[in-house]
Amino acid sequence: MPEGAVIVTGANRGIGLAIAGELAASGFDLALVARDSERLDSVLAGLAGPGRFVTHAADVSDNAAVTAVVASVKEEFGAVYGLVNNAGMTRDGLLMRMRPEDWQRVLDVNLTGTFYFTRAVAPLMMRQREGRIVNISSVVGMTGNAGQANYAASKAGVIALTKSVAKELGGRNVTANVVAPGFITTDMTADLPENVKADLLKQIPLKRFGEGADVAAVVKFLLSPAAAYVTGQVLVVDGGMIA
Ligand code: NAD
Repeated sequence: MPEGAVIVTGANRGIGLAIAGELAASGFDLALVARDSERLDSVLAGLAGPGRFVTHAADVSDNAAVTAVVASVKEEFGAVYGLVNNAGMTRDGLLMRMRPEDWQRVLDVNLTGTFYFTRAVAPLMMRQREGRIVNISSVVGMTGNAGQANYAASKAGVIALTKSVAKELGGRNVTANVVAPGFITTDMTADLPENVKADLLKQIPLKRFGEGADVAAVVKFLLSPAAAYVTGQVLVVDGGMIA
């Protein structure tokens, strides 16, 4: 196992929880972050693996909170090996009706939060000449989506941010990659009307919606020795939907 913890944001449910479970079982030390501490205790109790696990409650759009979390993790584990920027949110609406605050909040959490965490871990990873950053985007960051101008723009931004980070930090053996999920069954997608889900399913060659575990397996790969020479890439995990 590499020295240091992997920080996973948005780890108290959905895809983040699946990532935490997969990484724990693979032997990583983990620092799990979510906006509120409420579910983090039960998440911690449910994790199984030989590593050490800690939790932190922080809003990823609060730079001071993010900086404090990264400093604590460095203190607790001695090093930060990996960062998985998974926290994200939607506030959907057609462009003409989208309120500026709904635009701003989604950009603040999905894109600026990713920037804050990445910037906070970068000096540590550069100094230790080792690090892996995995950012969770979305296929809609590549295709756009009616009713999700804010979300799609934030996720496209995550891709451009990641490619820039890969170029800036590559010389210090720090990789940065994107995982872009398609339709994954979580709280985020639970409220979609049945007819919308049925239409989506028709567009998926593998004929099923994804599970958190489908995304977690690819995140695990990007944190593994096998992915040492992979950086600046977007790995799409969507059952072939936008292929
Ligand atoms: P979810 O709503 O179930 O979970 C979102 C997580 O992000 C939660 O743990 C929540 O606490 C955390 N979070 C939200 N705002 C936060 C904030 N301000 N500060 C800290 N934590 C915050 O969603 P999910 O489906 O598990 O999504 C996880 C990631 O995957 C998101 O980035 C999402 O955009 C992306 N994604 C999801 C799908 C999908 O179909 N579910 C598809 C593509 C991309």
